[in-house]
Amino acid sequence: MSESVKKESIEKAYCSACKGERNCDVVGSHRVSWDGHHIWGHTDWRILRCRGCDEVFCQTVSICSDDIDFGHDEEGHQIATYIETKKYWPAPSKRKKPDWLDELQCIKVASERLVSPLNELYGALDADLPMLAGIAVRSCFEVVAEILGIESELTFQDKLKTLVAQEKLGASAETAISTAIEAGHAATHRGWTPEPDDLNTLVEILEAFIRDTLIEPARRLELHERAANLRERVPPKPPNPKKRTKAAQKPALPSEVTK
Ligand SMILES: [Zn+2]
Repeated sequence: MSESVKKESIEKAYCSACKGERNCDVVGSHRVSWDGHHIWGHTDWRILRCRGCDEVFCQTVSICSDDIDFGHDEEGHQIATYIETKKYWPAPSKRKKPDWLDELQCIKVASERLVSPLNELYGALDADLPMLAGIAVRSCFEVVAEILGIESELTFQDKLKTLVAQEKLGASAETAISTAIEAGHAATHRGWTPEPDDLNTLVEILEAFIRDTLIEPARRLELHERAANLRERVPPKPPNPKKRTKAAQKPALPSEVTK
C-alpha cells in the first residue's frame, strides 16, 4: 500500500557530499506500507537537500512491527520504540571522483582499460556495496600494473617488486599497495566486508598509485612538449654588433707589432 506522508520541512540526515549529519530540507516524501496480518511495517522515502552544501539525495527509513527497542523513561516506565533502519543513495561510502579522471581519459591505454573498472568502483561506493568495491580496488591495481608493462603472469608481489626495481614506485608506496592488495584478496576469496573507513583508505591508496604512475608522468611529458613548442617560438637573441670575435679580441704578438 502506498500513501503520501506529511511533508516535514527539516530532517537530520547523513550527507555523503559534506560527510556528516546535517539539517536537510525534505523536498519530497512518500510512504509504502505493508501488512502481513501478524506483522506490519512501512518505509518512508524522502528526497532531501543538504542545508550545508545543497547536495540532493535519497533516504529510506523503514520500521517493522517485530523490531522493537524496549527502554525506560525518566520515571522508570517501560517504553517501546520501533527500530528505524536508514539507508541512503548515494551511500555514505560515496567518494568524490578524483579531479584527474578527465586527464586519465586522455591517456589512450588507460581510457580503454582503466576508466571502466574505476567507474564500477565508484558506482559500488555510491550503492553501498563494500565487498564489491574491495574487489574492484584489487582489479584496478591489476589493470594499472599491466598498463605499466608488467607481465600479467607474475604474482602481485612480484609485480610490485618489478615496479620498485624500475623506479616507478617507492618503497613506502609498495608497502601500502601490498596491504591494499591483500585486503582485495580477502574481499574476493574470504568474503571480507571492509568498513567505510577501511574502504576509504583502500581507494586512497589506489588513487595515489594511479596519480603517481600514470597522471604525473603524463603531466611531465605534456609540460616538456609545451616547453619544446615554446622554445621554437621564442625569438632568438640578436647578435651584438659591438661584441668582437675571438680573433679580433686576440692581442697581437710582439713580433707582429714590430713587422
Ligand atoms: Zn552536505
